Amino acid sequence: MIYWCHKCGEPIFDKVMHECNCDGDIVKISEGTICNPVFIQERKLLSKIVGLDLTEKKIWYFGASKYYYDGEMHRVPYREWYKAKEHLKCAEELRNDIKIERDYSLYMGVVEANKAYIQNLVFEAENYIVDIFNKYKNYDYIPTVSFSGGKDSTVVSRLVRDALQDNTVIHFFGDTTLEFSETYEYVMTKFRKENPMLPMLPSETENDFFKLCKVFGPPSQYERWCCTIFKTSNLNKELENLPGRSLSFLGIRHSESLARKFYERTQEHSKISSQINAMPIIEWTDYDVWLYVLFKNILINDCYRYGYKRVGCWCCPNNSDWSMMLTEIYHPEDMKKWKDMIYEFAMKTGKTDLDDYYEEGRWRTRRGASGLEVKNVTITDTACNLSDRARNIIIEKKLNKDAIEFFKPLGDLKIVEKKDATYISVCDKDKSGEYRKCFELIITYGTNVIKVLPEERIDSINLVNRIKCQMRKYQFCIRCSACDSVCPYGAIDTIHGKYTVDESKCQHCKKCIAKFYNGCIICDKVAGKKGS
Ligand code: SF4
Ligand code: SF4
Ligand code: SF4
Ligand SMILES: [Zn+2]
Ligand SMILES: [Zn+2]
Repeated sequence: MIYWCHKCGEPIFDKVMHECNCDGDIVKISEGTICNPVFIQERKLLSKIVGLDLTEKKIWYFGASKYYYDGEMHRVPYREWYKAKEHLKCAEELRNDIKIERDYSLYMGVVEANKAYIQNLVFEAENYIVDIFNKYKNYDYIPTVSFSGGKDSTVVSRLVRDALQDNTVIHFFGDTTLEFSETYEYVMTKFRKENPMLPMLPSETENDFFKLCKVFGPPSQYERWCCTIFKTSNLNKELENLPGRSLSFLGIRHSESLARKFYERTQEHSKISSQINAMPIIEWTDYDVWLYVLFKNILINDCYRYGYKRVGCWCCPNNSDWSMMLTEIYHPEDMKKWKDMIYEFAMKTGKTDLDDYYEEGRWRTRRGASGLEVKNVTITDTACNLSDRARNIIIEKKLNKDAIEFFKPLGDLKIVEKKDATYISVCDKDKSGEYRKCFELIITYGTNVIKVLPEERIDSINLVNRIKCQMRKYQFCIRCSACDSVCPYGAIDTIHGKYTVDESKCQHCKKCIAKFYNGCIICDKVAGKKGS
């Protein structure tokens, strides 16, 4: 709930607190949680849309195209304007004259009017940070900030450094390779200049988004494969290089998305797990974040000056029309590349009305593989004459030495090469906790058959299914690196040319085996589910 004080001329976030110091007339102005200052560059754009000069005005944005200025709420009908392609007429003008004010003085009144409120919030968040730091510092945890260049992680960065009185906290910049150029400039240059002591470790990815789009199709709201590949995987790899475990501070907030509604503020698996996630601003609203930015006078990513409400991947299917419009204005080259890719995909998958598919944003809601080349991911097994319980698993790709890697998660391998075949006995702890031989594999390189001989006590159906999952990886892996991030012990490596499992690290926890449906993300995409 947001109020407006007519005496102060400012939005008020806690009515009772404000009334202690002010006798002004306070009215409710919004049921929502959005209230952010509109900067000059966005005001120029708004002026174009409404056809009035708003550049000198003090304007607040309240969500859902509603802007407050001249003592009134105005709905700015940008969508019609955008669909009529009016934005392209002034794109060049806007792009060629970008005004960024470093000074927030126009909006500082809101801090004064909500001082007690923001001080309380900060006090609470900083206490939380100190408490959790103290709780874990004796267990070899190092505080880190997971930094995206967006406002939420920028705020968390400052809170953590203030709370811990430490300006050298390690920051991880999770580069999705799909960031706006402003984000790179902000993270690597502007933010750095203000915080020269901060170690900022960019995560490197070997994956090329556009190349992967050829396999997966463009990401859609239902097929957000890129998040798994670019976000989780990279971060996990960086954490491995830390000389200790990571107490990671994240800028995640409940009000951001439904999916995050039920996140706990602290995710602590156990005192010895490799990572603890702490989310100091999880209950903060959007206006809390902005209030803090103004309160501490924090330099933010230029994208917010253009009017982006959130800053992430520039081509995300979850971006609003408003964001798409801004990207068409400020990053026409990126948009062109994106458009070409969508058209190519639409053509390849036999869409009839290409313009519609793109313009109406139907790619954003596509489901399933949508006509990509469908592969058969079924692997069959048959009875084997070696014993009652033995099975033959028949795969499509001929067996070679690389297949061995995929057996390693199942247990310790003892490999004996004989003239007729390769014999692999697999030992592991079983349900009783006893370490012993669980099954034997017999394979011949160059053939398609794997013979499985389970010990009497082993559930052979389950075992065969696991081996099938592993063999799908063997057949389909394009080294998207999603598996790397699944292994809690860092045993899996796909980015150095091959899928490998380091047996000195592998604990046979088997988490990697069926983490993805059918064993591998790719199978899920090419299995030819019914799609739109
Ligand atoms: S484009 Fe969207 S879905 Fe893909 S990685 Fe970025 S945020 Fe995730
Ligand atoms: S097996 Fe599949 S999910 Fe795992 S890294 Fe390879 S392509 Fe990705
Ligand atoms: S997740 Fe890692 S440790 Fe567990 S079985 Fe797979 S490779 Fe081994
Ligand atoms: Zn007042
Ligand atoms: Zn082992």
